[in-house]
Amino acid sequence: MKVGFIGLGIMGSRMAMNLLKGGHKLVIFNRTKEKAIDLIKAGAIWEDSAVAVAGQVDVLITMLENPAVVEKMAVGESGFIKAMKDKAIWIDCSTVNPSFSVMLSELATLRNVSFLDAPVSGSKMPAEKGELIFLVGGNVDDLEKVTPLLDLMGSKIIHVGDHGKGAAMKLMINQMLGQSMLAFSESLSLGMAMGLDKTQAMDVLLESAVSAPILKAFRARIEDEDYTPNFPLKHLQKDLQLFTDTAYELDKATPLTNTAKEVYAMAKQQGMADLDFAAVFKLLST
Ligand code: NAP
Repeated sequence: MKVGFIGLGIMGSRMAMNLLKGGHKLVIFNRTKEKAIDLIKAGAIWEDSAVAVAGQVDVLITMLENPAVVEKMAVGESGFIKAMKDKAIWIDCSTVNPSFSVMLSELATLRNVSFLDAPVSGSKMPAEKGELIFLVGGNVDDLEKVTPLLDLMGSKIIHVGDHGKGAAMKLMINQMLGQSMLAFSESLSLGMAMGLDKTQAMDVLLESAVSAPILKAFRARIEDEDYTPNFPLKHLQKDLQLFTDTAYELDKATPLTNTAKEVYAMAKQQGMADLDFAAVFKLLST
């Protein structure tokens, strides 16, 4: 089975490396070739375009920034869907909105290509260790065919329903993630303004039942003011935007997420787009 990988950023580069380590012949493309150097050294075959990758593989994996980038690369006259082999399987791991994934699945079907939306839960380190959680929407038979590949990149695969359902589950998780970080940052900032000791306030908040367990992983970043990106803030803001876009499509109100996404938008506007999303603490505490 020949496998292709397009999108070799923080997540994609690490996921692709695990496929190589698992013994797969991997064909790759990324907008910025420098990010592929380690993979090429490890045996991956570089192609100069996404179309060239897509045209020769049985399974194509994409891990791109957002729906606009996926659309630009995949759809239309010059998009890679057109180039894909009959009966190939396309796994899109990018975090996108459910209706966009459904649209991709329909375009893929027209080309006799199977589509799975398979966004991941877990960040840079789980990606490196092959411990991601895949949230998969699509046909179970297609998923079974690619399970050995996903097993090399993740520790858990959850089939959540038909096309778009993987994307739906992923947006729910990131909505909670974004809100948790925001609630914590706002609370801690005011605590400091009220004269509480930052370390003690963190001790108490993070050990309390009201704190999301994941926040403990961000304590050192906030203490050291080290916002080197594992999960860039601009991506979290994008996910909250996609959550509210989806709510609009479904005629649902999401007042908290609308507010949260604007706080992250303010952080972006203040130059924090490429910092880790925990940098929202910096926005609220200065
Ligand atoms: P990243 O490091 O910013 O990588 C983004 C990828 O998209 C890169 O391959 C980048 O190419 C490509 N790209 C961006 N704009 C493009 C354009 N205009 N044309 C062509 N390619 C373009 O992001 P990441 O953290 O790996 O995230 C990738 C996806 O996974 C996102 O949807 C994100 O929300 C999701 N995700 C991230 C995490 C995380 O913790 N980081 C966790 C779960 C899910 P270049 O290398 O040339 O810029």
